[in-house]
Amino acid sequence: MAGLHIGIVGAGVGGLTAAIALQKQGHRVTVYEQSAKFSHVGADINLTPNVVRALDGVGVGPGIRRTGARPTFRISRDWDTGLETSRLPMGNTAEKLYGAPQLTIHRADIIAALAEAFPLENIRFSKRLKTVSESDQGVTLLFEDGTQDTVDMVVGADGIHSRVRTALFGEEYPRFTGVVSFRAVVPTERVKDVPEIEAFTKWWGPNPQSQIVTFPLNSGKDTFIFATTGQDSWTEESWTSPGDVNELRGFYADFHPDARALLDACDTVLKSALYEREPLAQWSRGAVTLLGDACHPMLPFMAQGAGMAIEDAVVLARSLSGVSTKAQIEKGLATYTSARQERTAKIQIGSRGNQWMKTQGNADWVYGYDAWNVPLTVNA
Ligand code: FAD
Repeated sequence: MAGLHIGIVGAGVGGLTAAIALQKQGHRVTVYEQSAKFSHVGADINLTPNVVRALDGVGVGPGIRRTGARPTFRISRDWDTGLETSRLPMGNTAEKLYGAPQLTIHRADIIAALAEAFPLENIRFSKRLKTVSESDQGVTLLFEDGTQDTVDMVVGADGIHSRVRTALFGEEYPRFTGVVSFRAVVPTERVKDVPEIEAFTKWWGPNPQSQIVTFPLNSGKDTFIFATTGQDSWTEESWTSPGDVNELRGFYADFHPDARALLDACDTVLKSALYEREPLAQWSRGAVTLLGDACHPMLPFMAQGAGMAIEDAVVLARSLSGVSTKAQIEKGLATYTSARQERTAKIQIGSRGNQWMKTQGNADWVYGYDAWNVPLTVNA
């Protein structure tokens, strides 16, 4: 048998990276996506060196470098005094140290770069998964439109509300974290007087829920502003709800004038609630597994959610190298989860605590991880 027929549910960053990487290992891959086309909704994303290196390995490096900006430093500042509490050189220094640069980029540009590297005819749009079930014939995907497909193996890359996860382990709702976020993009020209605007800067607020992050976008022409604050409840779940810029400015009225200048530059802002789950003890059952937000949704405070989905995809493909039988699939999936669970849980918990790099700390364990070369112990 030349390889497996693998069905991936979800054409987000994790699903598409897995599709390319698994295809490179000789498997036939079909992606099922609920939307009618690629979604352009979503946050602007900080791809740290560990993630850029993973993407370089699937061959999408040139695509993400087209519009990706390269922050000069990663700087932490106190919210009221503006005092610098940590500084890491990024740019060429990070590239030399970790083998890849940090790139800050719009999510739609990552999706576009990934989509170029995978045949469009192997993506089935408007296919909303209802459930999956496994039999001797393989794994059957049942869709909301009443159609079904049977494949050798299924990867649930269907995000925080994963139907694949529910099919495997039952219904369990993600938890509202009590944190809401505001997102805005402004022309850099408008905030050019803010010192070191070309850096990735995090203004650490008076409590772990409260912070403002800024970084360059669109080759530096724009600046992304991402602010979070505590809020007791939230009823609506959308990444595109308009927020109120005056409400935003009100939350940060006591912040340093340089931080306030960033918020003063915003014309419009999007507001969304942040959800997460506890680390999951088991990711796979039989020939069905999970990756990305489907198994480890996390707060964005370490900027690693998409990164962990992308690392998962690479390690999953490596774990399924040369696999063609059902027994090998289960062994391969055990290899994958044992390589990934500890790291993703540590980053999930670290993101919740929101202390990482507040003061000068060690970034190597996050940025230095190499998904292409990390040892795979169970199935090596
Ligand atoms: P998703 O991107 O959610 O993709 C899931 C896909 O599955 C979607 O295309 C969806 O339409 C599809 N789907 C869902 N259900 C079904 C179904 N039933 N049938 C078929 N298809 C389905 N991460 C970083 O690395 N760096 C950052 O700087 C960063 N900033 C963030 C800022 C904010 C405000 C938030 C909320 C998140 C941030 N993240 C960041 C996290 C990151 O966006 C997610 O972790 C990442 O998108 C997860 O990728 P995924 O492929 O697992 O899931």
